[in-house]
Amino acid sequence: MTQAAAEAFASKVKTIIRDVPDFPKKGIVFKDITPLLADHAAFSEMIKHIAAQFKSAGITKVLGIEARGFLLAAPIALELGAGLVPVRKKGKLPYKTVSASYALEYGTDTLEMHADAVKAGEKVLIVDDVLATGGTAAAVCELVEKLGGKVAGISMLIELEFLKGRSKLPGRNIHSLIKY
Ligand code: AMP
Repeated sequence: MTQAAAEAFASKVKTIIRDVPDFPKKGIVFKDITPLLADHAAFSEMIKHIAAQFKSAGITKVLGIEARGFLLAAPIALELGAGLVPVRKKGKLPYKTVSASYALEYGTDTLEMHADAVKAGEKVLIVDDVLATGGTAAAVCELVEKLGGKVAGISMLIELEFLKGRSKLPGRNIHSLIKY
């Protein structure tokens, strides 16, 4: 896809994503991707477009972050010919895990991944729907690196640039389709 075609596609996707004000709490504008998932043509073009950004990166595992990240990571993994790994909230995965905690507005949250999900030296792509403050993605980078994996890229459908998530991810190869 040319730069111009990519920009035209991103503008189209922007019109499909729904803004839900004051969800889950007052002052947050929630970016609802469900209308995009429900639109076969747009969803499939988007997955192909995202996968194309990482086609030559040698990725063997795609990590999806609970829960909306799963919905994007699975088709991206298939498109890249890579395996899929779920990253989940604490206590949800059945086998041995590694974990990383990150700060929330109030308190902390913990993410986990199976301890055998990424092998040392493996190239990994991290996928989620929204890059906000970057705390979640930074914790997932920590999980990958605890297992000796390499973060080859971070793919976010949406980037909320005003929250400066990239500042928590210095030196990372980040791709976002849509920016606000
Ligand atoms: P952060 O750690 O601040 O980058 O937050 C990222 C996580 O929160 C992602 O898993 C997103 O799905 C979710 N998130 C944050 N802000 C929004 C938003 N405005 N709309 C939808 N999801 C959001």
